[in-house]
Amino acid sequence: MRITFFGPPGSGKGTQADRISSCFGLQHISTGLLCREEISSGSELGQRIREIVESGHLVSDEIMNEEVFSRIETIDNFLLDGYPRNLSQAKSLDEYLENAGKPLTGAIFIHIPDEEVIRRLTGRLVCVCSNKYSDTGSDIRKEGDICPVCREPFAKRNDDSSEIVKKRLDHYHNLTRHLENYYENRLLEIDGFGTIDQVNERIRKEMLIWV
Ligand code: AMP
Repeated sequence: MRITFFGPPGSGKGTQADRISSCFGLQHISTGLLCREEISSGSELGQRIREIVESGHLVSDEIMNEEVFSRIETIDNFLLDGYPRNLSQAKSLDEYLENAGKPLTGAIFIHIPDEEVIRRLTGRLVCVCSNKYSDTGSDIRKEGDICPVCREPFAKRNDDSSEIVKKRLDHYHNLTRHLENYYENRLLEIDGFGTIDQVNERIRKEMLIWV
């Protein structure tokens, strides 16, 4: 199975992508995480990516396509999280996969309203190992608390300030949202409201048509 997850920032796609990839035995490739790893490596490319990510803009299609294609070249079952982010990336991905004889099975679109995006992102604390756990819900944590998995402190992501979140939302509405029409015939639309378990169950149920 080869699928992609998309949705507004803070829709929970990273958390769900992680769970779904384990459940269905898919390799999870998160382009947001790839960007943060490149930034942490201190490379020259990482420095350029840092400026783009922290200003709330999107990294170039050329860089992202190359990063993704080099990772999916040798694998048949994968879940892409945060890629494609626009129509041009979606078309490049389809072309690449068609040529490789392993077309995309489908896309999962998790949606939540803008007010909820702002509420979730401006309140979330993340850690190094996952960069995705929210401090909302039952697992209340404070800045500086230590993640039990990676032993690093929870902190706000630099691109989760309200000003940058607004820019990220603009990119989502102007670019990513169009993927809904593009993937029309192979799309599962999921309501992102509810607990992590509730949303996960919704996705797994809908995905049965691909199994
Ligand atoms: P995310 O963790 O998915 O919210 O991604 C964090 C940031 O990484 C985004 O705001 C972009 O700057 C960058 N990024 C991640 N995926 C892509 C992509 N497919 N295309 C362009 N930029 C991306």
